[in-house]
Amino acid sequence: MTRRTHIIGAGIAGLSAALAVTADGDDAVVYEAAPQPGGRCRTLQPSDGFTHDNGTHVLFTANGHAINLLKTIGARSQWFEPEPKGLPLYDGRTGEMQHVGLSPWSWLFSSRRPQGLTLPDLARILRLVLTAKDCPVASIIGKRPIMDSLIEPLTVAVLNTPAAQASSQRLACALRQLLRPGAGRLLVARNGLSEDLIEPAVATLEARGASILTGQRLRTLLTSHERAIGLALTDRTVMLGPDDRVVLALPPFEVARLLPALPVPTIFEPILNVHYRLRGLAHPRFIGFTGMLAQWALIRPTHVSVTVSAADAVIDQNAAEVAVRIWRDIIPALRGLGLEVASDRQPETRVVKEKRATIRQAAEILPQPPLRPLANLALAGDWLGSLPATIESAVMAGEHAASILRHVRGTRSPVPRNRPMTTEDAA
Ligand SMILES: Cc1cc2nc3c(=O)[nH]c(=O)nc-3n(C[C@H](O)[C@H](O)[C@H](O)COP(=O)(O)OP(=O)(O)OC[C@H]3O[C@@H](n4cnc5c(N)ncnc54)[C@H](O)[C@@H]3O)c2cc1C
Repeated sequence: MTRRTHIIGAGIAGLSAALAVTADGDDAVVYEAAPQPGGRCRTLQPSDGFTHDNGTHVLFTANGHAINLLKTIGARSQWFEPEPKGLPLYDGRTGEMQHVGLSPWSWLFSSRRPQGLTLPDLARILRLVLTAKDCPVASIIGKRPIMDSLIEPLTVAVLNTPAAQASSQRLACALRQLLRPGAGRLLVARNGLSEDLIEPAVATLEARGASILTGQRLRTLLTSHERAIGLALTDRTVMLGPDDRVVLALPPFEVARLLPALPVPTIFEPILNVHYRLRGLAHPRFIGFTGMLAQWALIRPTHVSVTVSAADAVIDQNAAEVAVRIWRDIIPALRGLGLEVASDRQPETRVVKEKRATIRQAAEILPQPPLRPLANLALAGDWLGSLPATIESAVMAGEHAASILRHVRGTRSPVPRNRPMTTEDAA
């Protein structure tokens, strides 16, 4: 009887788990509730042709696991560095544009240094990087100009949590990674998240014989004697073989619904994205903002995507009004990059609100379940562990789940007699 790994959730964590399982030559099936794989990394393709991602996702060359995943699926060349000369940073209060290096080493050059960065600031950033005790980022940096011009936007970009609450230790993990030579290059998908990440991952899995079944929500997990024994999905029930294993690559609220005894984080932070359909730039550009509601924008050939992270203050506001406000804010910055935009005419606009974009990564001990709560079941997802909840942590969690199940022993005890009516036994 073939040993099969059943992976629930086709987000980055689930796809990474499936890639790790199939790399070992094992059999994997992925079940996804949504009509398309990708989870929080996806491209929206409405019938009117205005195709855009849910939100702009950036990777750093420091994200070794994510970069290796891109190599595995043959998509590394589809992620490129839009701003090799330093990130253009537009200050909405002064109207000034500067270029800032993303690697702390580049701050040795005054042309790449964040505005107003002083030696005492560097000492505080160093304290943050070396911090042993977790505390809010803002409590280490204090009320200094660098807070507005660098630390707050950086914290919100990495942790999707305001610096007043955000965990210094999680941010320090990211900063330590950026310190490695060559690690601070910012990458974006050339065409979009589905084309440059999700579709190549699915194609690689299918070439290895794995199946990805969409529209299959795990409604109930059937368990017996501390083992998963069956999966009650949207239109079928799959009973597990004695050697079968399960990865729940799901957000924490779904894990808590399926296994209510497990402790999981319960507080989330939203991200709001606004996409403006216009003739952009043939070569995509990326720009950061300070002193404005939005934190960054990606200018693609057909549209401009603007991101507001830690968007609690606006997530429940009227979407059209928020989009108007952001459009007015960003016009001078877009013109600064050479884009011809009329101030009296706002382009066609789409707003995507992700209310539970990530867990809130505050300076407190977040509830964490055991990574293998049942003998043949492991958890995966960006929210597990103490790293920033990003693509990188989702990849790591998926790979880790596959590795902790690798040596799990099967059971010879028979499957219970009272099996549900619709069954599709695992091979
Ligand atoms: C707008 C936005 C911008 C972001 N920007 C960045 C960025 O710049 N850089 C970065 O690294 N990260 C970014 N992130 C975070 C990144 O998207 C996530 O960390 C990552 O996608 C999480 O992957 P995951 O597999 O852990 O979870 P998910 O993507 O949430 O995957 C879980 C999957 O499980 C499915 N599912 C749920 N319940 C069930 C069920 N019962 N049965 C079957 N399937 C189910 C869901 O539909 C989903 O596909 C951003 C997130 C958002 C929302």
